[in-house]
Amino acid sequence: MTADAPITQDVLTIPRKDLPQDGRANLLGLSRGALRDALIAAGTPEKQARMRTGQIWQWIYHWGVRDFSAMTNLAKDYRALLAEQFVIALPEVVSRQISEDGTRKYLVRIAGGHEVETVYIPEEDRGTLCISSQVGCTLTCSFCHTGTQKLVRNLTAGEIVGQIMLARDDLGEWPEPGVGTGESGPRLLSNIVLMGMGEPLYNFDAVRDAMKIAMDGEGIALSRRRITLSTSGVVPEIARTAEEIGCMLAVSFHATTDEVRNKLVPINKRWNIAELLDALRAYPKLSNSERITFEYVMLKDVNDSDEDARRLVKLISGIPAKINLIPFNEWPGAPYQRSDKGRIAAFADIIYKAGYASPIRTPRGEDIMAACGQLKSATERARKSRAQIAAETAGQ
Ligand code: SAH
Ligand code: SF4
Repeated sequence: MTADAPITQDVLTIPRKDLPQDGRANLLGLSRGALRDALIAAGTPEKQARMRTGQIWQWIYHWGVRDFSAMTNLAKDYRALLAEQFVIALPEVVSRQISEDGTRKYLVRIAGGHEVETVYIPEEDRGTLCISSQVGCTLTCSFCHTGTQKLVRNLTAGEIVGQIMLARDDLGEWPEPGVGTGESGPRLLSNIVLMGMGEPLYNFDAVRDAMKIAMDGEGIALSRRRITLSTSGVVPEIARTAEEIGCMLAVSFHATTDEVRNKLVPINKRWNIAELLDALRAYPKLSNSERITFEYVMLKDVNDSDEDARRLVKLISGIPAKINLIPFNEWPGAPYQRSDKGRIAAFADIIYKAGYASPIRTPRGEDIMAACGQLKSATERARKSRAQIAAETAGQ
């Protein structure tokens, strides 16, 4: 190391893939209670544990510090003890692609060599991070690219909150320790949507723990109103989402009859439209302005008729709702087409006239395959295209 090397160099050279072998436990993603237990087990006197937990929590989640030696309000020998036993390790960014429209897609490698994608979408008044909760998905919605990839595993809470932290790293959004309070100005990363790979309600505990960390006022401190969890309709877990997380809810509705929804969102065979709507009606309204978002992907000649729009309005009557129309994002080999612009506008008009906000979501990051429903790990994509090439060659 040269004399003028930055002090934080150690952080950059943590050999992440060696973590399981070197035996040090990762503190990332632990709840406050679990962090406290880990600190006590490592030799922190019980009387000090609460205070130490608060200090270390702030270093990790407020200041973005990963190097124990930089935690200057802790005694030197205590810092050394922490470094011997623990690491604060994020999943690794394998690659970053930036779209023409400023959307950033990160390919993120987690333990075991698996990959997920995380997408940052800058807008005028906000910056939204779309995060993944599983590698692949067990569900098989017929219009979704992720649904063609078999589930590999659930992400841990650390891997979920780690996606927020790696995006803040890339955006340079951590405050500088010792300079001000770190509370200045509008945020580049102001909103979270759980709309990446996976069904968040099939990984409930880890998603809850990660979102609690993201909402904690002494850390990343995002308001629960700026976090939206999207589910395909795992009915028994919907009430728990309100009780245990308290974030905003979006539902992948996509059809107005059970016949069509069974094909598009096969979980509908387990919990049909009526059961789903009952669960949504019971979703407690936490304040007057809060609405449930109904996501509706516009598929040409499948679910986009005027009749569908009218049925949709009828079905959701009585639920405080907004309807998000998503022009279908095409992917190689997809069995559907995007509805025409005029059709989408006519559909939106019927909903709007019935008194609902009905924004048409502008597709973002399409050129880098970062749009909703296009996410799929690069290795999977490569495998698929190799299989396709083989099939094509065989057919010649
Ligand atoms: N599994 C969850 C969250 C991830 S998908 C869910 O299904 O809700 C996020 C949103 O993108 C869902 O509404 C999903 O239905 C939608 N989506 C999936 N594939 C799409 C595609 N190809 N084009 C547009 N939207 C898509
Ligand atoms: Fe899974 Fe959601 Fe895609 Fe359906 S739309 S396959 S639930 S990620």
